[in-house]
Amino acid sequence: MDILRSLINGEETVWLNPDRRHIVPREKINGYGFARMKAAQMRFMRFLPWFELAFPETAAKKGLIESGLFEITNMKDRLNAEGAGVTGRVLLKDDAHLPVAGSVKARGGIHEVLAIAEKTAQQADLLWPTENYAKVYSDAFREFYSRYTIQVGSTGNLGISIGRTAARLGFQVIVHMSSDAKEWKKELLRSEGVTVIEYEGDYGEAVASGRRESLKDENSFFIDDENSEDLFFGYSTAAMRVSVQLRKMNISVDSKHPLFLYLPCGVGGAPGGITFGFKQLYGDNVHCFFAEPVQAPCLTLGMVTGKGADICVQDIGLDGRTDADGLAVGRPSGFVCRMMKPLMSGSFTVFDERMADWQEKLRILEGINVELSACAGFRGLFEVENEGTAFEEYLKGERLTETMEQATHIVWATGGGLMPDA
Ligand SMILES: *Cc1c(COP(=O)(O)O)cnc(C)c1O
Repeated sequence: MDILRSLINGEETVWLNPDRRHIVPREKINGYGFARMKAAQMRFMRFLPWFELAFPETAAKKGLIESGLFEITNMKDRLNAEGAGVTGRVLLKDDAHLPVAGSVKARGGIHEVLAIAEKTAQQADLLWPTENYAKVYSDAFREFYSRYTIQVGSTGNLGISIGRTAARLGFQVIVHMSSDAKEWKKELLRSEGVTVIEYEGDYGEAVASGRRESLKDENSFFIDDENSEDLFFGYSTAAMRVSVQLRKMNISVDSKHPLFLYLPCGVGGAPGGITFGFKQLYGDNVHCFFAEPVQAPCLTLGMVTGKGADICVQDIGLDGRTDADGLAVGRPSGFVCRMMKPLMSGSFTVFDERMADWQEKLRILEGINVELSACAGFRGLFEVENEGTAFEEYLKGERLTETMEQATHIVWATGGGLMPDA
């Protein structure tokens, strides 16, 4: 009740998940295991030759869609001076600068588009998994895909990842945008030939309408952020990629070297998929926390009440309005809530003004431009090692108090790479 009251009051809240349990690497969660993540990773690999041709900015990495992982010492020092008190290493995962999408949505949204592209072409006997997918970059394939439509509801970034990829494959694309979506995101999509339909209402309404419209057309696929498994397991591939990056940096993750992730959360797919992936690799040695705006704490609400997708932030009197458009979601994914019950460590909510402050500091101190949503995770640094916060109990319970100097903290910067300078 205390947590609920704090959410209702629009205060910054910390919630620790009482249902999280011991997890061993590669353990199946609700029937889903390592194979799903690996299959998503393999699908990305098959499409490498296509990406290299369709998005020349990926050519330097042979079609791989990857972002940096690096230490942000200036930022750490500044936040510590302001009371954060983190003793371990602080890294930024710079998904804002993932090619193609400019956000964490690159892994989820693009993966689902690739799944649809592969399925339709295989059913028509045009493509086999053993072939070189460079052949997909052709007029013949574009003509084939133009018979199909892909639709999606989005606050902006999901539309960009799906819209750009699907349009370059040749699909017709319709993006149903909620009122929170920023103007530049709509313009970018229109410039790529994507149809953007705008709604007065919030994200839930845009999704519902998109789903309805798509059902009317048998050649239309609706990418359903609230329920999609292909999105979720696409996001999970981040763990495989980051584990390689950590190894290259000589950073261990084990019981003496815990890993903390701070993940901005909207409907829950991105942070949920990432959490699933990291738990598959590191089990109990990774600790995953989600960050939400105080006005849109939908996943925290769904988890705290146990109601999942059956409750929304408007039900407790919040308006769901936030400048962090990537997180402006009123109702969480029910699928993600069920998957996260045994896995996530907890969550916290953040005022927009604090995100803006961290956004500015990241720009000045580290020279990295990200959008507001991408900064929500920094609050974790202020909680994790501070005495008297809920985290103190968590660290004691996990017997981590002695290991915190050897800990690694990853603040996940989820988007903003395509943002115009102005
Ligand atoms: C979508 C998004 C998130 C959160 O992803 P969900 O799957 O909605 O939880 C976080 N940050 C940014 C920038 C996003 O676009």
